[in-house]
Amino acid sequence: MHLNIFVSQRCFVHCKGCYSFSREEERGKSTSTDKIINFLRFVYSTGCRKVTLCGGDPLSRNDIIDLLDKIKEIGFNISLDTVGTPIIKDVVYDKDTMIKKVNTKRIAELVDVIGIPIDGSTNEVFKRFRQTKVDIVGQQLDICEELHKFGAHICINTVAHKGNLEDAHQLAKLIKKLDYISKWQIFQYEPLGKFGLKNREFFEITDKQFADFQAKILEIFDNDISRLQFKASHNRKNAYMLIDNSGNAWIPAYENMSLSEFSYVFNENVIIGNIANLQDWNKICSYLDRKFD
Ligand code: SF4
Repeated sequence: MHLNIFVSQRCFVHCKGCYSFSREEERGKSTSTDKIINFLRFVYSTGCRKVTLCGGDPLSRNDIIDLLDKIKEIGFNISLDTVGTPIIKDVVYDKDTMIKKVNTKRIAELVDVIGIPIDGSTNEVFKRFRQTKVDIVGQQLDICEELHKFGAHICINTVAHKGNLEDAHQLAKLIKKLDYISKWQIFQYEPLGKFGLKNREFFEITDKQFADFQAKILEIFDNDISRLQFKASHNRKNAYMLIDNSGNAWIPAYENMSLSEFSYVFNENVIIGNIANLQDWNKICSYLDRKFD
């Protein structure tokens, strides 16, 4: 299992199908840098070498550079998923909180792969999933250019859903032009998180529809899959261990998704432990991918 840590609840867009569980936690929860680092030192000693920081949006965390610095110092290969807005500008969050533009050079140096979402070739298509008032296509392209300037390894992340299926060719043409990106990951929409489940009827697609979306993209890429990764739902079952902003480590209960009101259930079957409890660390780590080098 791959380790994903939520390091913030805040986000710069409001996705109708938000799949992040961090949006459901009591507001204001966040794990301190010290707690994350102490836990990650132990994780590294067990042989785990990769971690993904997500949220919310990691770049909304005030001490994100300090956190990245310390994780890098341990030796991890770091992926970071972000909408990316503070890469290019200061952002006013929640009317009264200003999130300052980040030091992009440092981010590019510290993060091994930066995941940036692009889900549509036009604002109209893009905003069917990710709600924002900005020119989101233009903004995401500016963010990619800025990261590229600093030599960042960029991975474009796309959610394939009911609202962008017919955009596959146009979207593929747009991404193909970004010849400097390292990878393009295309995820089949999954009803994860409270909003993801609540709005599933607007986004959920069948395996066949995902396969058709994939085929259209491959047409534009002349079947060159060297930079493409298609992530169908069935490939992602039990692939991720998530640490939420309360420090709880859990595995999404995919089996329960269609049965429960919420997409996960806070009971002992799902929660593996909490990173604040030293006695839980071994159990949590027993699920993670290991690779000693
Ligand atoms: S899906 Fe991701 S980008 Fe969208 S609101 Fe949720 S955390 Fe933010």
